[in-house]
Amino acid sequence: MPTYHIWTVGCQMNISDSERLEAALQGVGYSPVDRAEDADFVVLNSCSVRESAEQRINGKLGSLAHLKETKPDTQIVLWGCMVGPDNQSIFKDKLPMVDHFVSPSAVDEVIARVPNPIYSFDEPVLPIADIKHPPVSVHVPIIYGCNMSCSYCVIPLRRGRERSRPLAEIVEECRRVVERGAKEITLLGQIVDAYGHDLPGRPDLADLVEAVHETPGLVRLRFLTSHPAWMTQKLIDTIARLPKCQPEINLPIQAGHNDILKIMKRGYTVERYKDLVDRIRAAIPNVSMTTDIIVGHPGETDEHFQATLDLINAVRFGKVHIAAYSARPGTTAATMELDEQYAVPYWKKQLRRVELEKAQTAVITELNQQFLGETVEVLVEEQAKGKWRGRNGQNRLVYFEDDRDWTGRVAQVRITRTGPWSLSGELVGRERATSDEQQVGHVQVPTEFVIPLEVI
Ligand code: SF4
Repeated sequence: MPTYHIWTVGCQMNISDSERLEAALQGVGYSPVDRAEDADFVVLNSCSVRESAEQRINGKLGSLAHLKETKPDTQIVLWGCMVGPDNQSIFKDKLPMVDHFVSPSAVDEVIARVPNPIYSFDEPVLPIADIKHPPVSVHVPIIYGCNMSCSYCVIPLRRGRERSRPLAEIVEECRRVVERGAKEITLLGQIVDAYGHDLPGRPDLADLVEAVHETPGLVRLRFLTSHPAWMTQKLIDTIARLPKCQPEINLPIQAGHNDILKIMKRGYTVERYKDLVDRIRAAIPNVSMTTDIIVGHPGETDEHFQATLDLINAVRFGKVHIAAYSARPGTTAATMELDEQYAVPYWKKQLRRVELEKAQTAVITELNQQFLGETVEVLVEEQAKGKWRGRNGQNRLVYFEDDRDWTGRVAQVRITRTGPWSLSGELVGRERATSDEQQVGHVQVPTEFVIPLEVI
């Protein structure tokens, strides 16, 4: 049987794309292997959100060049955000080890390059629903692309304009994936709240959440990533009302000063953002707000940075993805960084990142202490180092020990230890949800490279 190997870096959208590709490859008769060296078909699902991600992919491509010399029949595909409509011809010269370049999310185009498929793949791509044993928690893309033009971001150049998937198709995919064993669904989009504006009848994310919530057997429902300029009161009220919707909202602010938000072309002010957070917290009292922040964007002064630091301490987020700005070719910020008066030196970016991380660690340490002695519901994903690992509603990692198989079940855990990165405790209840034994997929994801959907 022919074999494949997928290597993924980047955001949840990439992970979701790789999961879908995995199912599609199995659909044409290929089976997974852990090492590229053993595969007939190798796919690198790339990310260009930060320079460091690209460096990592370039390293991987270096090792594949050697593989190509020893096993010239291996087909190598470079997929994802490094590949845009504008740069494929440049890559063809620079990366001779790569056989095919395919744009992000185009699963069917990757499949079209599979050599000697055993079965044909005629269906439109709905494959994750067809994996025999999907992961406990599945990401389902609902809208592709982005119509914004944030100064620092390459996503619109790589992933194109927004395209929403039809509501009925998403609902059907969710039904099928839950039927096969998934317990949690996260609806995905670069701006997930922009869902539906390009569809007939203009359904919105609240309508979709309402429809997916009805999926029999679904335990938890989340969505990712929101944009402060797009989130509506209707959506907030819907999440507050529906019990399967989890109390966690990722709302990237990116900077804590209006001058920088304006340069970034984000389309909101700090005041509007804080008002939105207040309204979300009023409607969903136990909600965990999470965010993304870029430090060292061109033009960021010490005063601007201090405002971001103050914001972190004031809003008290459950999680903050912090990134030091790195220029992405083709963006307006990259042009701005060429001007010395705007560029923030590398060392200063790193200092700011570390200072922000320190502040956030103090905030999250304190927030997590509130769980001490509480009993939380944990949807268990897998076993790691002899302990069961899952997440509570606020998406905090929770560990506990037990001899039984808890994969895909909801455990009641009394928290006995808290830290900045996780909670641990002891089992106090039997499962609420049951399932057949679950397996996670074979998509290989270096966890240190799982970064927020919205970019940095
Ligand atoms: S940062 Fe997010 S909203 Fe802005 S252009 Fe990129 S993907 Fe779109």
